[in-house]
Amino acid sequence: MSYSLSTGGTSGIARFVPVTHREWDVFSEVQANALKNLGVNKKDIVANLFVAGYFWPSFLGGHEIIKKIGAVHLPVSAITDIEKLIYFFDLFKPTVILSVPSLLIYFADELLKKGKKYPEVRLIQFAGEHLSENASKVVKKAFPDAEIKAAGYTSADCGLMGYQCNHCGPIEYHVPTDFQFIEIYNFDENRPCKEGELGEIVVTNLKRTSIPIIRYRLGDLGYYKKKKCRCGDKNPVLVLKGRSGEDFKFGGSYVGMNQIEKCFSDFVSKDGISANYQVEIDNLENGKTSFILRIESSNIEASKKYKNEIKENLFKEIPLFKEGVDIDFIEVFKVEFIKLGELPRNPVTGKIKRLIDKRVGN
Ligand SMILES: [Zn+2]
Repeated sequence: MSYSLSTGGTSGIARFVPVTHREWDVFSEVQANALKNLGVNKKDIVANLFVAGYFWPSFLGGHEIIKKIGAVHLPVSAITDIEKLIYFFDLFKPTVILSVPSLLIYFADELLKKGKKYPEVRLIQFAGEHLSENASKVVKKAFPDAEIKAAGYTSADCGLMGYQCNHCGPIEYHVPTDFQFIEIYNFDENRPCKEGELGEIVVTNLKRTSIPIIRYRLGDLGYYKKKKCRCGDKNPVLVLKGRSGEDFKFGGSYVGMNQIEKCFSDFVSKDGISANYQVEIDNLENGKTSFILRIESSNIEASKKYKNEIKENLFKEIPLFKEGVDIDFIEVFKVEFIKLGELPRNPVTGKIKRLIDKRVGN
C-alpha cells in the first residue's frame, strides 16, 4: 500500500509520487523531530493551516507531526474562511501555527484591519514558499510574541532536507545526515563543490526504497557553512541561496524579486498595504512592454498616495525600468492596489505566484 502525493514544481505539471506507509512514517518522524527541536511539545495547541486535498501532502503531514509530538491538533486547514479562522483562534487560542506564507500574510493583514492580535502564539512555522522580510514584519505585528521559522527545507519526493535550530538564520538549515545525503555540485565544471562554495543542491535519500532518490536535482542553489553551529548539533548547516524562477530577465540583466519587494517595504502595513504582491510582465501587441506591480491592501484609497513613491523607488533600484519608460520601450508601467485576498492563489498549494512573465521567449 502506498500514498500518492502530487508535486506541482516549477514546471507546473502535476506528478504523482508513490510513498509507502513506512516511508511516510519516516518522513513524518524526521519532520516531527525538527519541530521538537524548536521546543514544540505536548502542551502546545497547534493550528494546522496547511492546504488539504488535491493529493497535497502538507496538511496530512501536519497531522502526523502533531500526533507524534503529542500536542493538541487544530485541523483548521487553509480553506477555512477568514471569519471562521478568527473564531477558531478566539476559541482555542493556539500557541503554534503551521502555514504557507501567502495565507499567513493575508491572515495578519485581516487581523490588523480589525485591530486584533494573538500574543499567545509563540511559534509560527511556514513552508512551501519564501517569507520575505516585509512579510515577516507584518506577521510579527499580528503575532507579536511569535518566533517565525521555516518548517524546513522539504520536497514531496525527498522529504525533509533541512531543519532549523534556534541559531539558524532565515535561510540556514541543518541537514538530517542520517536521512539525506546532500551534495553541492558544480555542473559547469562537473565536480563537487568545496566547503563554503556555492553550487547546485543534489539530493540522495537514504531511506527511500520504493522509488529511490539518487542524486536528484531540485534546481536549488546553496553551500555548506564552514563553521559548526553554536547549538551543538553536529549536522552541517546548509545555506539556501534561492530557487530558480525567482528572477526575471529585463534588458539583458536579471532582476530579483527581492529588489521589487525592497521598493515598497517601507510602506508595508501603512494605510492597509500588504506584503502580498504580484508582478506581471507582458508584451503588448505593438511590441512594447508592460510592467504591473499589484499589491494587496485593506484600504485601497489610502494606499494610493504611495504609488508614485513606489514607482520612484523602482526606477532607482532598477535603472533599466526608468530607461525603458523614458525611451517608451515600456509603454505601461503601473503600480496597482487590489483588495486583500484578491490576488489569484494556486488552489493546490495556496501560494500566490509572485511573477507572471507572459513575454514570449523568456
Ligand atoms: Zn544549530
